[in-house]
Amino acid sequence: MALVVQKYGGSSVADAECVKRVAQRIVATKKAGNDVVVVVSAMGDTTDELIDLAEQVSPLPPGRELDMLLTAGERISMALLAMAIANLGHEARSFTGSQAGVITDDSHGKARIIDVTPGRIRSALDDGSIAIVAGFQGVSQNSKDITTLGRGGSDTTAVALAAALDADVCEIYTDVDGVFTADPRIVPTARRIPSISYEEMMEMAACGAKILHLRCVEYARRYNIPIHVRSSFSQRTGTWIADSTEGSEMEQAIISGVAHDRSEAKVTVVGVPDKVGEAATIFSVLSDAGINLDMIVQNVSAAATGRTDISFTLPATDGQTALTALNKVKERIGFESLQYDDRIGKISLIGAGMRSHPGVTAKFFSAIAEAGVNIEMISTSEIRISVVVSQDDVEAAVTAAHRAFELDADQVEAVVYGGTGR
Ligand code: ASP
Ligand code: MG
Repeated sequence: MALVVQKYGGSSVADAECVKRVAQRIVATKKAGNDVVVVVSAMGDTTDELIDLAEQVSPLPPGRELDMLLTAGERISMALLAMAIANLGHEARSFTGSQAGVITDDSHGKARIIDVTPGRIRSALDDGSIAIVAGFQGVSQNSKDITTLGRGGSDTTAVALAAALDADVCEIYTDVDGVFTADPRIVPTARRIPSISYEEMMEMAACGAKILHLRCVEYARRYNIPIHVRSSFSQRTGTWIADSTEGSEMEQAIISGVAHDRSEAKVTVVGVPDKVGEAATIFSVLSDAGINLDMIVQNVSAAATGRTDISFTLPATDGQTALTALNKVKERIGFESLQYDDRIGKISLIGAGMRSHPGVTAKFFSAIAEAGVNIEMISTSEIRISVVVSQDDVEAAVTAAHRAFELDADQVEAVVYGGTGR
């Protein structure tokens, strides 16, 4: 008998019909002789709707109250799912994150899991029940307040429970048949990736592939939990994320896929005096403001002026905070001005094979050039090359890179079953 953790995203439980269909799938897994723990997200676009509602009553809702509101979304779906399972003649018990033992720190809206004590889940399983857990939420160890893990956090809940319960597999159900070589909404001929390493999947997630939360993959890697990403709308095998087994029969693909991200913005600090410690001041100010930076570029200073420009990218949602923080130290640093551009997009080529294959960079840049797209910034890791381009060029650049590395399937494989992509 295996212990299976299954996570169903919002589009899989968008309405009553969907909930009933998912209930059947869960019951089938149980009947096949498994212990089943289910993590569920809020129905459809509920979370976005609740955020809209909050913004209508307050431009800056207190974090504690926003978390209280948003966690209600998952409570609705967990209870409905438990009822639908009961209606099929099986016992199911729903639990909030707090009841399931998901203990977090106290940063509302982006809490980190610090411990999982799933005693009540274990007892439910021991009694032969199916346990349903509300995703994306926990309880703060210090304040005992309800917290949320950040958008898309239900994946992390699922992996954290799988680790704490020593599950055999964590299945993440979504509205596509797995992880694709590019977003099928942009590249219809994208291919399903049958298996991918944690390392590559982490880069994909960090570079904007929305299919999995980055923290969920980090967590799975740390505890070595195999993840199976698949569709709740079909019976097909999806994508397995696990450590690549050595000497596996298939030769490793050089490139796994092309990811894109439209959610970042670019800040340029113009005319920074070229002296020791200026970059340190700029980046301390930003880190004190709690901002996570992505790419950073500093040009060589023009000898004539003794000044240089420093550009960096960050989540566009942090743009205003960054500008305010930097303007406060304008005099102290002595830079000339700030430029802000949120009409950018980042395209990333990811593949563990690029470590040992020269020429990948040249091919990538040629493909982008042939598509007539101008590159604004470049950054690389051992297994990734990313470029920043104008947001209008994202589709062209993704399509060109995907084609250049021969990732296109002969026929359309990708089916997008649901979701609004919101
Ligand atoms: N419902 C939450 C969200 O939409 C959490 C999740 O779906 O994972 O972000
Ligand atoms: Mg959701």
